[in-house]
Amino acid sequence: MAKQYAVIGMGRFGTSVASELYEMGYEVLGIDTNEDKIQDAVDFVTHAVTADSTDDNALKALGIRNFDVVVVAIGADIQASILTTLILKELGVKKIVVKAQNELHGKVLTKIGADKVVYPERDMGIRVAHNLISPNILDYIELSPEYSMIEIVANHKMVGKTLQETDIRKKYGCTVMAIKRGEDINISPLANDRIDQGDILVVIGKNDDLQTLEEEA
Ligand code: ADP
Repeated sequence: MAKQYAVIGMGRFGTSVASELYEMGYEVLGIDTNEDKIQDAVDFVTHAVTADSTDDNALKALGIRNFDVVVVAIGADIQASILTTLILKELGVKKIVVKAQNELHGKVLTKIGADKVVYPERDMGIRVAHNLISPNILDYIELSPEYSMIEIVANHKMVGKTLQETDIRKKYGCTVMAIKRGEDINISPLANDRIDQGDILVVIGKNDDLQTLEEEA
């Protein structure tokens, strides 16, 4: 059976997660204390329910335990977010993903058993900053505090050269993991694969090394 998701909090972030899952064909339960939000959510979730997630009986009655993943997308009310996470954990929910407002909130969530903590504003801010340094940087994903992955449009110095000739590994210590060309993606590029105009390189490396590559791109 396809996975079932529940999203608690139909704010901007929760709405975005819920509607995307629904569009991809998954069953999604949307929960919010605010009735207006639930009225709006009816169009893009399978079921929309008005309930307070800090009330464990309400969550039990919804059968929250049976969902494969529960996303806690409560924004400003940190106390409600923490309480909800705790209740979900105690009810035995298999996978709990929670949006954190800040690092401290995130730490608490991890300590009480959140399986994944996300920081949408922080992560988007980082991406925008990297895109500002160089419009060629399409995406930036932090893999650990030390390593990241970027998507970069091949510049004029790279176009026409083979991967080996670009010297990306020797010069920057970074590795090209994939080359995107239109709809195609070459996931194991070889040293003698040639880079075309418009190609997008997926590069992994140390943050400092990637920054040097970004600045020169
Ligand atoms: P965003 O920044 O993603 O828009 P918000 O804080 O504006 O986040 O939205 C969070 C949503 O979570 C709101 O719609 C709010 O009504 C809902 N919410 C807050 N507390 C609870 C709760 N205890 N149970 C269910 N929904 C809640």
